Amino acid sequence: MMNEAMVTAPPFPKNYAAEFLVLTEGNGARVRDRSGKWYMDFGSGIAVNALGYGNGRLADAAREQMMKLIHVSNLYATEPALALAERLVGSGPFAAVHFGNSGSEANETALKYARLSARRTRGEGHHRILAFSNGFHGRTLGALSCTFTAKYQDPFRPLVPGCEECPFNEVGELEARLDGSFAAVIVEVVQGEGGLTVMSGEFARALNRLCRENDVVLIADEVQTGLARTGSLFAYQRVGLEPDIVTLAKPLAGGLPLSATLVPARINDLLHVGEHGTTFGGGPVTTAVALEVWKTLSDPAFIESVERKGLLLARLLEETGARYGHAVGAVKGAGLLRGLEILEGDLAEIMAAAREAGLLLLRSGANVIRIAPPLVIAEEEIREGVAVLDRTLAETLGKSRKTGTGRKKGGKTS
Ligand code: PMP
Repeated sequence: MMNEAMVTAPPFPKNYAAEFLVLTEGNGARVRDRSGKWYMDFGSGIAVNALGYGNGRLADAAREQMMKLIHVSNLYATEPALALAERLVGSGPFAAVHFGNSGSEANETALKYARLSARRTRGEGHHRILAFSNGFHGRTLGALSCTFTAKYQDPFRPLVPGCEECPFNEVGELEARLDGSFAAVIVEVVQGEGGLTVMSGEFARALNRLCRENDVVLIADEVQTGLARTGSLFAYQRVGLEPDIVTLAKPLAGGLPLSATLVPARINDLLHVGEHGTTFGGGPVTTAVALEVWKTLSDPAFIESVERKGLLLARLLEETGARYGHAVGAVKGAGLLRGLEILEGDLAEIMAAAREAGLLLLRSGANVIRIAPPLVIAEEEIREGVAVLDRTLAETLGKSRKTGTGRKKGGKTS
């Protein structure tokens, strides 16, 4: 049956799907397709649209700034870029922020700064980069070289030399691998694309200690987790990680492309004019919108509300999962970046059925349903969305459903 909301084989490259749902507008946590059907958005453009859709404050900020100055390049500064830089640098032990346009670009900048730092302070031969299994840092060649997923890496070999893989959350493996030949470690606190595993406090402490002992730059990739998503301003605060460099992107400008690489004075002081740069990064329009976004996302009361809603979501997912026996596993993640492990059944089928029922979901890794709604979502909307998910699981996993009982309570929230 032809669905008028779908488009098939548009002139987009074949690295994307062959069929798309065409969306036309949104409001709060909901989006509408071109046939007029509304959906609860549990994906927010892959964890981007923190303030949801149809936010007049953001639209006004963009319009006002576009009428003044739309772009100046990094040969000049603008008031919004200066103001945003002050706020970001003041959010931790940072001296400077390099603005870019995507998460990948923020990580490229971090990796380049770390290599430059190793070379300038320790000389040649300390250029390696350690990253973790199931991590995701982007699609550009440097970031991809630290993203050990064969499907993403193999067609593009050879990659950047010196990028080494280490199992995540395994202190012994980290101790065995990390030494002074490395310039940097790059790591996510919650593995957003790779299954929503959360860094343990023990692993965070080991990273802090080993990076300090070996003079290795510790990069926290907070592209997906940063700016309130996990129920704290930065996810690194939750586990006691002490990163030197922090990268941000997805929610930073509320849906416009803007990224940030936050660096401490000791690295900033090693950089020389012209050694790195970008044309569009930190433009006046994206930074003007980001200033509005920052007001909300940095507000402690707002961050607390994300934590509260995240706990509600986790509890509802626990209750839902428990109804499907062995077919559904652990609830994962933190804050409003949560996942539900699907142990039996086809994830793609579940996601398609949920969409049909009016709920947009994401996946993470091989078998985790990822839920990353706009952070402004209401508790009632969380309940509504999880109820749709429950009905969808009942249809698709129907046979394994056990009413009321099933998996024991207290499944792990990792
Ligand atoms: N790092 C992390 C943790 C991410 O989740 C992503 C995107 N999913 C990236 C980097 C890459 O960001 P972008 O797609 O904006 O380049």
